[in-house]
Amino acid sequence: MAQDDINHFLKDVHWLMDILQNIDVGLVVLDREYQVCLWNQFMQNHSGKAPEHVLGQSLFDVFPQLPQEWFCRKAEPAFVLQSAAFTTWEQRPYLFHFPHYRPITGSAEFMYQNSTIIPLLNTHAEVSHICLILYDVTDTAISKITQTETNNRLEDLSRIDHLTQLFNRGYWESCLEQEFKRFDRYHIPCTLIMFDIDHFKRVNDTHGHSVGDDVIRVISQCLKEEMRETDVAGRYGGEEFCVILTATDSDGGLEFAERLRNRVENQRIMAQNEIRVTISLGVCELNESIENTQTWIKRADQALYHSKNRGRNQSTQN
Ligand code: GH3
Ligand code: MG
Ligand code: MG
Repeated sequence: MAQDDINHFLKDVHWLMDILQNIDVGLVVLDREYQVCLWNQFMQNHSGKAPEHVLGQSLFDVFPQLPQEWFCRKAEPAFVLQSAAFTTWEQRPYLFHFPHYRPITGSAEFMYQNSTIIPLLNTHAEVSHICLILYDVTDTAISKITQTETNNRLEDLSRIDHLTQLFNRGYWESCLEQEFKRFDRYHIPCTLIMFDIDHFKRVNDTHGHSVGDDVIRVISQCLKEEMRETDVAGRYGGEEFCVILTATDSDGGLEFAERLRNRVENQRIMAQNEIRVTISLGVCELNESIENTQTWIKRADQALYHSKNRGRNQSTQN
């Protein structure tokens, strides 16, 4: 090689080394034993470890928290098959636990990272080393996470009745449709209960609307505490409630209705004066003669009005 060519070559290498050091991604070259052969400025800045403390050492000795088994499984194909591997922050939020402080949100305590492992060929076209490339994707991750959280919150708001924290009527009705379809397919018993507070107008008239609201809240709480996790409860209207009891037949439904009725009857609701209220319930197990969810609701409602007509504070099966 002529001296001029050598000078050019050295200059190119010099530039490349400068770029490697200053580029805003992490670069680590590892040999077959996972010993560190290159550690760029990005890695030094974020890990607080200078090259002289890392070079020639096993990566896993310097960073004992690294997921060694997982990392080797990712890196092995690069050595053996000469293929690259890519990992996103969604699969694994970070590889190296680097601190990251976001003054605005304060929500990221570490740097979210994407990483790529690429094989490096030697002059014999063999892979003797691999290069790990680490990208700081904290901004992207935080904005994606925040967006998902906001969407979830909005979705919750559109499903939840804000006075009782039960499902609102619209969402609850869509759950009822689901259960109806499930029954069509699997024929597992399913029972619907509708109930209404007795003489609730009197509560409002005597104690005021806001005490009335408290009563509605307390009864919702009783319902939540009595039902199973698989049951689906909603606020159907002002002081009317609905609950789907999954995998429950009519007798099981009546048992639940009576338990809830008793619980409410014995519940003291504190205002200036102690208030007690009762509820009337209608129970209807789904069967083949019920052609759609409207009919199902109507049947439970008929049973509820039966309870009202017979003197209130009782449960009726239909
Ligand atoms: P019944 O035993 O026949 O059910 O008698 P009732 O007085 O409870 O009659 P009804 O169920 O028709 O009355 C419902 C009342 O509930 C009327 C309405 O003013 C009141 N109400 C509806 N929604 C709310 C609410 O969110 N808060 C309060 N405080 N009252 C409500
Ligand atoms: Mg009513
Ligand atoms: Mg009522």
